[in-house]
Amino acid sequence: MNFELGLLALAAALGVTLLLFGVPPGWVWPLVLLPYAARHLYHLLRLVRLIRRQHRLVPPFPRGPWGDIYRGIAQYQQRGRKRRKRQIRSSRRFREAADAVPDALVTLNKLQQIDWANPAAAELLDIHWPRDDGRRLADLIEHPELVTFIETGEYMRPLDITPEHNRALTLSLRIAPFGERKRQRLVVARDITKVYHLDMIRRDFVANASHELRTPLTVITGFLENLADAPTTPPAHRRPLTLMQHQAERMRSIIDDLLTLSRLEMTDQDTTQVPVDVAEDLAHIVHEAETLSAGRHHFRVAVDATLLLIGNPVELRSVFANLIHNAVRHTPDGTTIDIRWTADTDDPLFTVTDDGEGIPAEHLPRLTERFYRVDRGRSRASGGTGLGLAIVKHVLKRHGGRLLIASTLGVGSRFACQFPPARGMVRQQTELDLECIRRVTTPEAERDCS
Ligand code: ADP
Repeated sequence: MNFELGLLALAAALGVTLLLFGVPPGWVWPLVLLPYAARHLYHLLRLVRLIRRQHRLVPPFPRGPWGDIYRGIAQYQQRGRKRRKRQIRSSRRFREAADAVPDALVTLNKLQQIDWANPAAAELLDIHWPRDDGRRLADLIEHPELVTFIETGEYMRPLDITPEHNRALTLSLRIAPFGERKRQRLVVARDITKVYHLDMIRRDFVANASHELRTPLTVITGFLENLADAPTTPPAHRRPLTLMQHQAERMRSIIDDLLTLSRLEMTDQDTTQVPVDVAEDLAHIVHEAETLSAGRHHFRVAVDATLLLIGNPVELRSVFANLIHNAVRHTPDGTTIDIRWTADTDDPLFTVTDDGEGIPAEHLPRLTERFYRVDRGRSRASGGTGLGLAIVKHVLKRHGGRLLIASTLGVGSRFACQFPPARGMVRQQTELDLECIRRVTTPEAERDCS
């Protein structure tokens, strides 16, 4: 500022001198102010030119306010350069990291077209970037479920596929939405060939071993039965023979359940799609459960008889039977078992609730594991195979449903099977709305059913 005031003072002094030398006043001010204005115009135009051409402002800078302006812009440019360098470095690091990832990574724009892909995508998915830039993923990977998988937005479960270009591979495909309004997609494909094969080997082993054990066991059971019944058998041998018979029977149930599980594991989806009359099935199952309970439990049943369930009748029946029989086998005498089949806000819902002892919280996440039992000794004695809930979980998975387990110690447990709305179907029948099938061992239960 001082420099600028100095310049003005100099111009004024020059003007006064010129006046003293007799220069006419009309000439004096233009003569004095013209160089001053020309200096400003020069710096202004120079700055505009430098900025327009994106030149870097470097010293020496002019003196006075113009110097401050040049210096300020130079600092701003330097900060911008540093920020850009940082961004370039971090995006290079990200690219290098993405290139090193062994999983295939592909980003899709909001039109589901390929935006970018890492080198692993070339090997695993045969997607080469930039060659395939702008192409649709579904056009490059031919898989009937892929289009639906991308469009539904249901990305909780991965989709397992075998790519056309390499039939020996098994890939697990996951999708994550990202970006503005989550309209872009990140597709991650992982090579699960080894895991898949190991799982196949395990499944085959269990299925074959179970199959192989079945025949000798049938022979043993037959002989034991004959021996136990034979009049020549000494009385002292009868009890051990009966015990052996029971154990052989238990082994047969375990083998049957293992074979059922192996069959269920073969495919994630079931093709049998028939309307199942759940109410009718439940009537039979509850009758069996009453026999199993022998009057030790109270049953309450509330069933929407108009609600049918689309799926595999045999598998669904095993789900209902497993949960109801569990409630009988794993609860003490006097327990009330509440069985419901309704459409809960459109989702067909089957629940079995008991007011038994309940299950400690730490066991709940593991209940559906094979042979997992809360109380090993007691569960075995109750006659279970330890595979019931694993079967339930698999059947539900194959029907797009899920098993929800809630339990509180001292209060009881609730096992709920929730099916997708599309699985429910209303029977064309008007006289029945909400029907309570006869289930009745206590007056309380009668009240409930009325
Ligand atoms: P199991 O053949 O032993 O019944 P499941 O897989 O059906 O095998 O059940 C696993 C375990 O879950 C059971 O051993 C039992 O400890 C527990 N369980 C299942 N249902 C109930 C229930 N209604 N109340 C208490 N515990 C239960």
